[in-house]
Amino acid sequence: MKISDILKAHEVTVSFEVFPPKTDDKYAAVEEAARKIAALRPSFMSVTYGAGGGTSKNTAAIAADIQSSCGVPVLAHLTCVSSTKEHVASMIRVYRENGLENIMALRGDIPKDGRKIFDYDHASQLIYDIKSIDKNFCIGGACYPEGHVECERPSDDIRHLKEKVDAGCDFLTTQMFFDNNTLYNFLYRIREAGINVPVLPGIMPITNKSQVARSVALSGATIPQRFRMMVDRFGDNPATMKQAGIIYASEQIIDLISNGVSHIHVYSMNKPEIAAGIMQNLSDIIGG
Ligand code: FAD
Repeated sequence: MKISDILKAHEVTVSFEVFPPKTDDKYAAVEEAARKIAALRPSFMSVTYGAGGGTSKNTAAIAADIQSSCGVPVLAHLTCVSSTKEHVASMIRVYRENGLENIMALRGDIPKDGRKIFDYDHASQLIYDIKSIDKNFCIGGACYPEGHVECERPSDDIRHLKEKVDAGCDFLTTQMFFDNNTLYNFLYRIREAGINVPVLPGIMPITNKSQVARSVALSGATIPQRFRMMVDRFGDNPATMKQAGIIYASEQIIDLISNGVSHIHVYSMNKPEIAAGIMQNLSDIIGG
């Protein structure tokens, strides 16, 4: 099923993300985790694509397994920055042959070793290519409430985002953020710029202390004082940090839904117990 149809059909949706294994010996463990998350019956699941495309066959295999064995619609990610047009076209064919109807079209991070970028500069070019190969794919794109790290002026980032949506994005998923006001502000600015597709806030449950520095480095997200105090108080005890992190993410989600932002994407990081904790905290809210 297309995600655009799922979003239209349900007032509130919750989706989870998994990432494929980097090496084949970890495949069975990731498949098991993905199946446990699928058993929670999220509205859909997304499967990320390893930087540089190194894990592309595992993305396709995990995505196809979740959709065909577990019956949960899947959003398969695809990045283009280190790919040739031929490789991208072959992945789109693999996705189509596996019955996948949704692609998260991304540029990907530019490799730190400065390897040559191949045929693509921006995600909008990938979206154009997907649409020209098969216009029936439902396409998601990424957006950044605090601005993309490479873009110096937020207004330029929003202008580029508009170009990306105009190229054919059906919806957008945000980078993680820890203060909902950041998102409300961003939504106001993009709606003013004429970007009207659904925006799914990406919620990252931080459940261990070491994740904080990694997540900030990756996303550039601002850490609010309330969040910092939680990590200071609970961060040295894994069990309490996990519980506090699930509750913080659940509270973020409840506030979003209360404010009418009700299609939520959770970066569940192959952790069924974290996805289950969030589903449990929201059970009546999602059901009702
Ligand atoms: P783009 O939309 O191309 O934007 C990248 C930068 O280029 C921005 O600064 C933008 O302002 C600028 N730009 C865009 N168009 C133009 C233009 N015409 N002229 C000048 N500048 C322009 N990475 C992975 O490797 N695998 C994944 O599975 C993955 N999943 C993700 C999911 C989500 C929800 C998010 C938010 C990110 C994900 N990423 C993933 C990370 C993503 O690949 C990086 O953030 C990457 O740096 C940007 O990708 P993009 O698709 O947003 O790029």
